[in-house]
Amino acid sequence: MQILHANWLLTCDENFTIIKNGAIVFDEKIILVDSIENVKKKYPIENIKYMGENSVLMPGLVNTHVHLEFCANKTTLSYGNFVQWLFSVIQNREELIEKATEELIDAELKKMLQNGTTSIGAISSYGFDMNSCIKSPLNVVYFTEALGSKAEMIDTLFLDFKEKLKISEANKNSRFIPAIAIHSPYSTHPFLIREILNIAREKEMVVSTHFQESVAENDWLNYSSGEFEYFFKDMLDQHISLTKPIAFLHQFKNIKNLSFTHCVQANKKELAQIKELGASIIHCPNSNRLLNNSILNLSYIEDIPLAMGTDGLSSNHTLNMFEEIRNAFFMHTNFKPNILARKLLQAATNGGANTLGLNTGALIKNKDADIICFNLPDTLNNQEDLPTAIILHTSKVNHTYIKGKNELL
Ligand SMILES: [Zn+2]
Repeated sequence: MQILHANWLLTCDENFTIIKNGAIVFDEKIILVDSIENVKKKYPIENIKYMGENSVLMPGLVNTHVHLEFCANKTTLSYGNFVQWLFSVIQNREELIEKATEELIDAELKKMLQNGTTSIGAISSYGFDMNSCIKSPLNVVYFTEALGSKAEMIDTLFLDFKEKLKISEANKNSRFIPAIAIHSPYSTHPFLIREILNIAREKEMVVSTHFQESVAENDWLNYSSGEFEYFFKDMLDQHISLTKPIAFLHQFKNIKNLSFTHCVQANKKELAQIKELGASIIHCPNSNRLLNNSILNLSYIEDIPLAMGTDGLSSNHTLNMFEEIRNAFFMHTNFKPNILARKLLQAATNGGANTLGLNTGALIKNKDADIICFNLPDTLNNQEDLPTAIILHTSKVNHTYIKGKNELL
């Protein structure tokens, strides 16, 4: 059992409770969260570790959406236009995948721990990131991804998907949880989606998909036109979209833990359908900016659970969640800073954990003891400013506990 005491304890519970001079008692799970006075009454003082001046304890961050297999990209891919970026991914895919060695992926996962991330949703297209995810101390929800729109390929793609999923299931443990991803409505055949989602329902797996990421996607799905017209004609000799947004969303009924990534082009009807499905929206603002997609309107989705993700290094320069949150903080100018700061920290912890179906993301009794600790650069005068101060001044943490174990020691 361990006891940590900090100047500020951010629980990220439903009420966003902040405890000034707080302490947390935990082993693998959290036992007690209270003021230092109350904790001292119950436990011997010599067991309590003070985390230093201006210290903050909060739940570890949950990066719900990352593509580790693309982490070799630095300057290879073209940014600034979604369809051109996609062409550049296809052109350079082989080279990037080859460069993303186990060593490189291990190093990125280690950086994530140092940056305060304790759980990730890893979207895997090929399974090449699996060993790194199994070895890592991070909680990994490992999404085997289905992709392919050619009707004559469905049987082969389905067999291949089942094989990859089977391997991930064979490696399942308390920190490595197999899950299912559908790439997107424009890239995955409806029949393949139907079969794969039946597996997800049967095995009660977490499901995620990209949805309404770009204007090109919206134009293609609704009108079979726009920038994607040439892409599909050139690449796949396909002239008509295989699905419409509403029909695609309809396929996801009765999935318990479901999320849609991006949704920047989703209209009110589609958002209402996402709400009805009980799904979360995953916000990846850096990726949206780099591919010149629009900014997610957080005012439109106030009644839909929100989570945060960095997306892969194929459309980001870092997998650091604090940097992602900071950019989002400066992007969504229609919210007051302190209100937005609370919302983003909540989405990056509790919101992410709920999205991935994990028992973490809040400093509450019986949750997994996934805790991070860092120090603000100076004394904070006003408690209301704490979420904003954290977002402005934090990029790295001093301690990352996962299931009660300090993984930075
Ligand atoms: Zn993605």
